[in-house]
Amino acid sequence: MGDLRITDVTVHLVAWPLRMKRRHGVGDIERSMPGVIIRIGTDGGIAGWGEAAPWAVFTGTAEASAAAISRYLKPVLIGADPMRVTTLLRAMDKAVTGHGDAKAAVEMALLDIAGKRLGAPVSTLIGGRHRERIPLSVSIANPDFEEDLDFARDVIANHGVNIFKVKTGFTSHAEDLRRMERLKAALPATADIRVDYNQGLDPWDAIRLLRDIEAFKPTFIEQPVKRHQRAAMAEITRALDTPVMADESVFDPAEAVELVRDRFADLVSIKIMKSGGIHRAREVAAIAEAAGITAYGGTMFEAGLAIAAGLHLVSATPNIALGAEFYTSTFVMGVEILSTPIRIEAGETIVPDGPGLGVEVDEDAVRRVSVAIEG
Ligand SMILES: [Mg+2]
Repeated sequence: MGDLRITDVTVHLVAWPLRMKRRHGVGDIERSMPGVIIRIGTDGGIAGWGEAAPWAVFTGTAEASAAAISRYLKPVLIGADPMRVTTLLRAMDKAVTGHGDAKAAVEMALLDIAGKRLGAPVSTLIGGRHRERIPLSVSIANPDFEEDLDFARDVIANHGVNIFKVKTGFTSHAEDLRRMERLKAALPATADIRVDYNQGLDPWDAIRLLRDIEAFKPTFIEQPVKRHQRAAMAEITRALDTPVMADESVFDPAEAVELVRDRFADLVSIKIMKSGGIHRAREVAAIAEAAGITAYGGTMFEAGLAIAAGLHLVSATPNIALGAEFYTSTFVMGVEILSTPIRIEAGETIVPDGPGLGVEVDEDAVRRVSVAIEG
């Protein structure tokens, strides 16, 4: 097997049409969401695909991610051996700081190439499958709550979904309590309900408001206050019986070390778009596991490529044990870019088993949502 060389990197800035509105503590999304899709070509005829799923109010802008790849990461990649993923991750960190979602997209495409070259799924490359199916959590985040109740009934009846994460803190506390009551009444008694504030509360009255929410027995409460309000996160974590999860407060391995040191949450949400890819996400999971902190598989607004990468990650990472929200490509995105969509069966997402990411991209579909193509 001779060396492969990267010959070209194509960057698509895309606008995803959305099938439903989304409202989170940190921001609203109407009918479209910017994103980035990349294709890395090699002289061996193998190409890999990757996706960055930034959100302006959370991780940064899609325009910045696309520029980071085209201007700063591409020069590192052209001519390099795509199988040397570890070396290229370090070279990318030297070329540009931050931009975790851009680096996640590149790493995804490199692992896709490596897996196709070796005839192995990405989950095998990173240590082997611990799980074939991942319990699916669906988020209740539509400002039209009646639409969301219909959505919940549909995913229960047609997809066997049993885990629901309610987005709170974007409306009044009284309205949140009313939504929790109605949701609890509409869902089966066995439903596993979680709550995510997306930084929506102020520290001064957070504990009092969260005690009301605890009455609904959520499995966990995610990111009640702002990302940098870690002292308040720690106080809330100590005051509540319900486990508190850090999402925005923990992006990468260095912040995971701070979580272990300062114990400002009981649990952590791991996302490849926050950590800067699968390897860094596994480092976050390992740091957490060593400290007895269990993890959850989070996502941004991700299409099928990023969801496939997430499935391989969670499949091979035992400590990401609280299920994963791999629902966006199936239920939120208004376009399917995979020739064979991500499969959901009996409330679980199925890990693709082909080589690389194990998915095939519909290139026409990618072109249709592209607003700019570079390379
Ligand atoms: Mg969250």
